[in-house]
Amino acid sequence: MLSDQFKRKIDYLRVSVTDRCDLRCTYCMAEDVTFLPRQEVLSIEEIIKLIDVFNELGVKKFRLTGGEPLVRKNIITVIEHLNDLKKQKKIYEHTLTTNGTNLEKYASILKENGIERINVSLDSLNSEKYKEITKWGNLEKVLKGIKSANNEGIKVKINTVLTQDFNDEEIFEIIEWCKKNNCDISLIEVMPIGSIGEKRFDQYLSMKNFEEKLVKKLNLIPSNFKTNGPSRYFTNKVNDQKIGIISAISHNFCDTCNRVRLTCTGKLYMCLGQNDFVDLKFALRNQSKTDIINKIEYAMSIKPKAHNFEINKNNFEGYVDRYMNETGG
Ligand code: SAM
Ligand code: SF4
Repeated sequence: MLSDQFKRKIDYLRVSVTDRCDLRCTYCMAEDVTFLPRQEVLSIEEIIKLIDVFNELGVKKFRLTGGEPLVRKNIITVIEHLNDLKKQKKIYEHTLTTNGTNLEKYASILKENGIERINVSLDSLNSEKYKEITKWGNLEKVLKGIKSANNEGIKVKINTVLTQDFNDEEIFEIIEWCKKNNCDISLIEVMPIGSIGEKRFDQYLSMKNFEEKLVKKLNLIPSNFKTNGPSRYFTNKVNDQKIGIISAISHNFCDTCNRVRLTCTGKLYMCLGQNDFVDLKFALRNQSKTDIINKIEYAMSIKPKAHNFEINKNNFEGYVDRYMNETGG
């Protein structure tokens, strides 16, 4: 079992399988983003090899992310492999975070390959606003995808990034829609990851202030429900709906961190909110499995205690100098 210098057990790996995406969410990446040259990106076989090494070291939960995981060619080969590991009881869960644009096409294939729950990002239920925040996304397509996943019996959790003067009023409608459509929901505070040309400060809506409004309006009570993840949960007293809140800036959640992140180029980031990484690609392509393991163990020894995200009037731009689509959310 992997554990870090603060004795936190690390049994969860998020794997960014591509930096590419068919959307351009304004808080995630710049519209004119330059994607990585293909030779820098790990092959499907290399991703599988690293998954196996992490699994042998005790990692039991894998989430595929990106960029958009469902635009990566042959991504199903990775999911099939994870499903084989699950059938052999070597892992307990494999899942993914998706923008949902290709979900209608993939829902049944995901189900066949053991995916039981997914996170789908959705920031507005208004087609025009959805287009505005994603630059050119088609809301109808995403809603059809969510429906297909639901029909397959895949549990959907909606991820909504709250942005100032954009969806802070609409969020109540989105929460209601989730209840009607049998989806859980997590509300996410914008994190200063990557310089996006637009002022982060203008997008940022502090959960500290917003939570109070939410609790009052929806009759919420804090829930005992806990995962090792960053969400704090609330329950609606009236309809029993569970609402997660991920507030990296206004409420630090690092004490129980159990995860590390692998980028599509083989860099292992020990913390989403710090710049340090350990490069596994050289060892993967040129050295032995022992060298890869040594690098992973070294990474554990330098996993930082906490992120130190900051958004304030003097610090408009991204604190972390890489983009979210590269590291994986
Ligand atoms: N493309 C997929 C999607 O959008 O679900 C997976 C990758 S995306 C980077 C993963 C999650 O990160 C999404 O829920 C997205 O809304 C969130 N995200 C992206 N940039 C963010 C930021 N700067 N702050 C907070 N969340 C962000
Ligand atoms: Fe693409 Fe996801 Fe980033 Fe949106 S949040 S641009 S869907 S990677």
